[in-house]
Amino acid sequence: MTSILIVGAGPAGLACATTLTCQRVDADVEVVDPSGTWMAAWHRRFAAQDIPNLRSPAVHHPHPDPFGMLEFAAGKGLIASGGTQLPTTGLFDAFVDEMIERRGLTDRVTPTGVTGLRIHIDGRAEVRLTDGSSRQPDRVVLATNARRSLVPDGLRDAAGTEVFADTERANVANTPVGGHVVIVGGGLSAAHLAIGAARRGARVTMLARRRLRVRRFDTDPSWLGPRKRRPFEQEPDAFIRRRTIDTARGGGSVPARVRRDLDRCIEAGVIDLRERVEVVGCDAIGHRVRVRCTDDRAVLADAMWCATGGRIDVGLDPLCQDLVTSFPTTIAHGLPDLAADLSWPGTRVHLSGFGAALRLGPTAGNLVGQRRAALRIAAAVRGDDPVRSDRIATGRGACPDDHDLVGAR
Ligand SMILES: Cc1cc2nc3c(=O)[nH]c(=O)nc-3n(C[C@H](O)[C@H](O)[C@H](O)COP(=O)(O)OP(=O)(O)OC[C@H]3O[C@@H](n4cnc5c(N)ncnc54)[C@H](O)[C@@H]3O)c2cc1C
Repeated sequence: MTSILIVGAGPAGLACATTLTCQRVDADVEVVDPSGTWMAAWHRRFAAQDIPNLRSPAVHHPHPDPFGMLEFAAGKGLIASGGTQLPTTGLFDAFVDEMIERRGLTDRVTPTGVTGLRIHIDGRAEVRLTDGSSRQPDRVVLATNARRSLVPDGLRDAAGTEVFADTERANVANTPVGGHVVIVGGGLSAAHLAIGAARRGARVTMLARRRLRVRRFDTDPSWLGPRKRRPFEQEPDAFIRRRTIDTARGGGSVPARVRRDLDRCIEAGVIDLRERVEVVGCDAIGHRVRVRCTDDRAVLADAMWCATGGRIDVGLDPLCQDLVTSFPTTIAHGLPDLAADLSWPGTRVHLSGFGAALRLGPTAGNLVGQRRAALRIAAAVRGDDPVRSDRIATGRGACPDDHDLVGAR
């Protein structure tokens, strides 16, 4: 039996644990996350931005059977959107809870964090935990989403003010009712925060570096099929693959439905959207903040929230230090060039999430990419071809035990 330690209990870690149990892989799986529960960061983000529905279609979720959630939904909790159906946040959460229970994963998350990895010569990792203990599993899956928030240059050293980019504070629950919030960013998170704060009674100024772009998904769906994926996978130059990822994702955008909500708030005079404006700095004025912008129009506000994206850089991730130094692989602007089974070359440490994008492409950090990562990692444990396992269509046979998710509600 293979012992596997999954670090991180978000959708990426959950997809891995679910796929391993669904496929009855002979493995002893332990999951660690300081929250001690599944999906804590996901729930926090959705609550902070008051997100009513997912951006991705209902066939994207952590279970290996794409149709599992549609069957579970039985027509409820789905929003029709241009030929696809988007799950409401409530449906997604209910489905995930159901699959966790069905797979016997409810109490599987040990409430502890990982502080570092030491990689032995045979590629196995010694994993150090926050409580001082350590584990030496056969394989480790890093599903930590080690993204660092990017804050605009002008705000980084803002003396005497606090720039809130974390979900705890850049949170619609902290809306200064009757006050004024500046939201920096032009993507979906900025839009959700702006609409949420406006609905709670604040005036909002939204500052976006470029014109807001309307797109259904963050990455074009053509990336789900072989036409885009094959040439990407066959490209030997990691830096060209990296550029392709950035071009495909192309920065922040909002779906048309959210753009309409934003326009309604703009028409009602509660949101002032200022496009092609950059923030150059801010100053504390008593309890308020004065935000200086490139268009010379400063804004005095009660709070400033940043939704300006994030970046993964394995060179800065404490869990990847020994991997980076002892098992060198090409790192293209923060992303490592992994093996086909998403292991760090020469080791038994696998990455899931956006950190695996040089192998999986621009959707690696999305639910669909996390499912593909789980399929590849499960294949590696079984000794099968990871690329083939990721290409074959997963359907009802993906988890025979769960064929009756329909009608479970
Ligand atoms: C607001 C928002 C909405 C999104 N909506 C969608 C969507 O609709 N569809 C879609 O496909 N994608 C969506 N995404 C993108 C992506 O699917 C989510 O960000 C998702 O949460 C990423 O999953 P994850 O498991 O990689 O990371 P997370 O959900 O962030 O989970 C990582 C976990 O790792 C734990 N961890 C971190 N470090 C350690 C450590 N050292 N030791 C132990 N545990 C650790 C954390 O506590 C956390 O629980 C969205 C992202 C955001 C921000």
